Amino acid sequence: MTEKCAWVTLATNDSYCLGALVLAHSLRKVATKHNLVVLITPGVTDVMKDRLQSVFSEVITVDVLDSKDAAHLALLSRPELGITFTKIHCWTLIQYQKCVFLDADTLVFKNCDELFEREELSAAPDVGWPDCFNSGVFVFQPSNETFDALVKFAQEKGSFDGGDQGLLNQFFSGWAREDIKKHLPFAYNVCTTAFYSYLPALKQYGSDMKIMHFIGNLKPWLQKFNWSSRSVAEESHLQAPLQYWWDIFLDKVHPCLDSAMAGLAGSLSQLSIGSSEQGSAVEEHLRRQGWEAGNIDYMGADAFSNIWAKISQTLSSPPAQAPPSPPSTPAPSTPPVTQAVVPVAAPVETPVVAPPVETPVVAPPAVSATPVASTPPVETPKEVVPSVVKPVVVSPSIPEEKVPKKDEPSAVPPKAASQEAQTGAKDSKVSEDIGEETQL
Ligand code: UDP
Ligand code: MN
Repeated sequence: MTEKCAWVTLATNDSYCLGALVLAHSLRKVATKHNLVVLITPGVTDVMKDRLQSVFSEVITVDVLDSKDAAHLALLSRPELGITFTKIHCWTLIQYQKCVFLDADTLVFKNCDELFEREELSAAPDVGWPDCFNSGVFVFQPSNETFDALVKFAQEKGSFDGGDQGLLNQFFSGWAREDIKKHLPFAYNVCTTAFYSYLPALKQYGSDMKIMHFIGNLKPWLQKFNWSSRSVAEESHLQAPLQYWWDIFLDKVHPCLDSAMAGLAGSLSQLSIGSSEQGSAVEEHLRRQGWEAGNIDYMGADAFSNIWAKISQTLSSPPAQAPPSPPSTPAPSTPPVTQAVVPVAAPVETPVVAPPVETPVVAPPAVSATPVASTPPVETPKEVVPSVVKPVVVSPSIPEEKVPKKDEPSAVPPKAASQEAQTGAKDSKVSEDIGEETQL
């Protein structure tokens, strides 16, 4: 069989490119024999594009907004599907016979080239609703016909969850029942929620893990990181996989970052390993993202007095005095946005600005309050699986930080909903487990 195959990912901004770069290096580390392709949009800076080109076999710019094709028209009537339309452009990669799509927030631990023997559409069950597949990892066969059909379907029917996962599950609706060979083992898409929703299974099967998927808010690049100790500040079973992500990042990606990059990538380029810096640049970035996502820190840095001071400073019209009472919604002209986050599509025009008090905050995994830390992954040639559980007692801490979902405020994160749903379940499950300190 001389099929031309490729791993495909997507990044619409420089922050997600950090994930794409680490993902690509993780694939190279396990010596995949296949091509690596990244789809980007004009929201990615030129300097970042240059870095992507040094790791990926192909960097393909997809501009859904500018194209005059059906996807563009569909987008006009369905602006909420911006990222989704970009993602389904992977079907247009007809220079390849078979591809595997990987979200930019996935990380590969072991060689998975055998996935290319599977048929379209193969994927692993979603943890929130196992009769749906999770669209962070899927095998597909590029075809312009399928692409056109997907665009038409999206335009007519939309997506039941507002994102690509809903769309693809509706389109490939036979997945749940028709052919069990299209069900990938969970090891190919281990969602982070499994780390606190079913701990005994994690202990039993964790070492089989091939691909990890950091769904929801817990993107590795948004984690607090201690630059002097080179360690992730997460105290949970996720510490080891997160550390693995950061180890690759520090080794391969960070040295290539440039201050001309946008958003978090630009901020991180300023930090140096070994410095006593604890990532305040990152915190500032997160705060800005939180603003964009509607999670405004009214009581803290985004307090009205600060906003007013900023307005005054910007308008250079002293003396400015704050009105007696703050408005119920923030002044739209003052978001502290300097990062160049360029969304794919119009949804940025419909920002979701919910008052933070009502904004549901995904609680951090309960295990993070558990005094359990993990050892760094033990690297074996070609195959690396982080050790998942190691009982080391450290002082418990409860992360209070709420981390925004994405770089842009548009979509209600589809898969995050299932994650939130699981958050409740996890508490009871984990509380059973935290009493004992167990090891794989
Ligand atoms: N993505 C992107 N820019 C965004 C949001 C998403 O490029 O602003 C891409 C990226 O490849 C990401 C995928 O779309 O991994 C799906 O989004 P995400 O992983 O954030 O969703 P989740 O898996 O958490 O539901
Ligand atoms: Mn994802």
